[in-house]
Amino acid sequence: MSDIQDIIEIAKRRGFFWQSSGIYGGVSGLYTYGPLGSILKRNIISAWADSYISIGALMVDSPVIAQEDVFRASGHLERFTDLIYECSSCKFRQKFETLLEGTGKGVPSSAEEAMKIVSSSGLKCGNCGSDKIAVTDFNLMFPVGTVRAGESRLFLRPETAQGIFVDFQLLIRQNRDKLPLIVIQTGEGFRNEVAPRNAIIRLREFSMGEVEVFMDPESHPFTPDSSKEPVNLMDRDGKNMALPVSDALSSGIVADPAMAFFIQKTHRLLTGLGIDPGKLRFRQHRRDELAHYSSDCWDAEALMDDTWIEIVGISDRGTYDLTRHQSHSGKSMEVKIGDKTFIPKVLEPAHGIDRILMATLVHSRRVTDKGYVVMSLKKEIAPYKLAIFPLFKKDGLSEIAVDIFSRYSKIDPYCIYDESGSIGKRYARQDEAGTPYCVTVDYQTKDDHTVTIRERDSGKQKRILIDDLVSGPVLGNKYVISAFD
Ligand code: AMP
Repeated sequence: MSDIQDIIEIAKRRGFFWQSSGIYGGVSGLYTYGPLGSILKRNIISAWADSYISIGALMVDSPVIAQEDVFRASGHLERFTDLIYECSSCKFRQKFETLLEGTGKGVPSSAEEAMKIVSSSGLKCGNCGSDKIAVTDFNLMFPVGTVRAGESRLFLRPETAQGIFVDFQLLIRQNRDKLPLIVIQTGEGFRNEVAPRNAIIRLREFSMGEVEVFMDPESHPFTPDSSKEPVNLMDRDGKNMALPVSDALSSGIVADPAMAFFIQKTHRLLTGLGIDPGKLRFRQHRRDELAHYSSDCWDAEALMDDTWIEIVGISDRGTYDLTRHQSHSGKSMEVKIGDKTFIPKVLEPAHGIDRILMATLVHSRRVTDKGYVVMSLKKEIAPYKLAIFPLFKKDGLSEIAVDIFSRYSKIDPYCIYDESGSIGKRYARQDEAGTPYCVTVDYQTKDDHTVTIRERDSGKQKRILIDDLVSGPVLGNKYVISAFD
């Protein structure tokens, strides 16, 4: 079974995530996060937000619905499209580029050109083989009606970024009219993907963590530090290398110091979340794959099932969005800094939270010699930090364990009590849930007020005093961690 499929099964069994509305057959690309997944997702979002708030970012929370004018200005109405073909015989729908695979032909720029290729090359439906196929431009945005009949349409946002650009002047004021201005936003993005797949990797509704960095391109503080840690890079010509980001900048592989700074920052965030640095690379977009708003882009990609999957896109949006909103709204998007009046440039690290979560699960999964799965999630993001068990339900052991649970959960609520099944099964359950520590109350506890604490990754066990456990500081409960140092 592939790593991703294995994670999808564990995720459903343990309560990380599953397809929504299964009782009605579900809709592909719509997923629910369960009890463990919701906490894990929130922890990842917090780590991301903290890493930006700590460098002065301002956080906003704009609506998921916006009016047509916003997306006309941003270009999404016209250009956020995929060329798809539909078969009138079997009703199959697929991206047109999939049909071109193996033909040696490039993706055409319009549906008309695509139809010419269909007839000249005799292309047929990939599902039923019929030649009754029609290529159209398919807009990925979800329309959500209008407020009143005849008024401009509303759409679910395909990215959170526009909610920041439209309020740029209000935000720069909050920043004391100074650049750089870093604004972050987390929330849902909606895209009517033609082929949602791999559970939370390609969704119709997904979670984003977007960062818009507004700056004066000639004067800003962003440059990578001199860390010697190598980062895997693949340039636009497909050349792979592993080198410190500062060297990539000085040798011109990454042209812009701000881009290099955010590559380094993203690398630290992702590896800090538990993504394997050996299975993480930054790939520069080829010119023909750049989004309509972008002049340069480096994607952080994680290796899962032998495929590199984009998890973060760091895009140079230049002055595209602010210029477009200025001309469409008639409102100035300029800033006056000193004696210079200009539209700031924007660099955007856009994080796909669901994909980051999937990569942390895939990269932290290991299988023991006995065939059990252990999710070695970093303690900082593990949904629960501690599980408390009585060895048996009888002889007063449950009562002691419940008492420890109620005292410990006052210091760290992310602990869990479990008394069902054999102790081995309970350990296995917590290993799959990624819980770093388990505490067991046994008969010796009654004599000397100690419990066994077991560390997930090493499997080591120690005896510690209950009083020491429940008086430890909140997570990562330093006492618990240092018990294994
Ligand atoms: P983009 O604006 O296309 O660069 O998307 C930003 C990030 O969102 C990407 O790097 C992905 O990690 C994530 N992403 C994009 N589309 C989807 C999707 N359909 N489902 C889940 N994550 C997505």
